[in-house]
Amino acid sequence: MSKCHRIKVNGQYLIATFTDGNEIKYHMMLIACGVTYRKLDDVRNIEKLTGAGIYHGSPIVEALHCRGQGVYIVGGTNPAGQAAIYFSKYARTVTLLVVSDTLTEKMSPYLFHQINEPSNIKLRLNTVVTQVSGESKLEYITIVNTKTKEQQTVPAAIPFIYIGAEPNTDWLNGIVLRDSHCFILTGSDLYNNEHPQDLIMDPHPLLLETNVPGIFAAGDVRRDSIKRIASAVGEGATGVQLIHPYLKKV
Ligand SMILES: Cc1cc2nc3c(=O)[nH]c(=O)nc-3n(C[C@H](O)[C@H](O)[C@H](O)COP(=O)(O)OP(=O)(O)OC[C@H]3O[C@@H](n4cnc5c(N)ncnc54)[C@H](O)[C@@H]3O)c2cc1C
Repeated sequence: MSKCHRIKVNGQYLIATFTDGNEIKYHMMLIACGVTYRKLDDVRNIEKLTGAGIYHGSPIVEALHCRGQGVYIVGGTNPAGQAAIYFSKYARTVTLLVVSDTLTEKMSPYLFHQINEPSNIKLRLNTVVTQVSGESKLEYITIVNTKTKEQQTVPAAIPFIYIGAEPNTDWLNGIVLRDSHCFILTGSDLYNNEHPQDLIMDPHPLLLETNVPGIFAAGDVRRDSIKRIASAVGEGATGVQLIHPYLKKV
């Protein structure tokens, strides 16, 4: 599939170049190129069983299928904490596997306190997943305590992986302003960041507009977006609505 890999601003036109060599001239663009979820690369068999018992993100639809089961969540940031609390309403036990020796570094205090309250959520610090196994679906996971080197293989526990996501914005470097995690800045977010304000070419950017007039961003790739299908679709529709006032200006 051909991808856009360069945008050049030329007067009131945006010239997009695609990986198949095509070049197209636009008055405006809506960028919705999403994120890539980080994977546990060095875990044996992870590729084979992803989607067949191992999931990246997404607690809402899966939680109902976890009634009465033991669920493992990999990660120590807010999304992992939120997922643990959500799953604990359905699962028999939820075990949070955290690679570092503390939860407080990357998790908000309110989540940290909830996880530490007596409940069916168990916390295992200094712990990594080293192997997953099963024929057509996940049957066992192997976890290791990196301090004690103790290794444990537990049966058919469902692991959900929350180790973050990277926005697909490398190709936009130097074109639109991004935050320190490379998510695209739009609307009023443009004014609350460390970038020189003279890079904002229109002093009154529209809601989803970037610092470059005519380039809009929607969905997961946008800073502080909700990271759900409904919100991405909603932002896409809003972006289309914003095209009309923008086109009246050019
Ligand atoms: C495993 C998993 C399960 C999920 N489950 C749910 C769920 O149950 N409910 C829910 O609400 N949300 C769920 N989500 C989140 C949801 O998928 C996203 O929030 C939503 O898809 C975001 O839409 P988007 O259009 O911003 O990005 P995406 O859906 O990621 O689409 C981005 C598209 O842009 C393309 N692209 C990237 N770079 C370029 C480029 N340079 N040029 C051209 N095209 C490019 C990509 O190939 C991709 O097709 C889940 C996410 C994951 C990973």
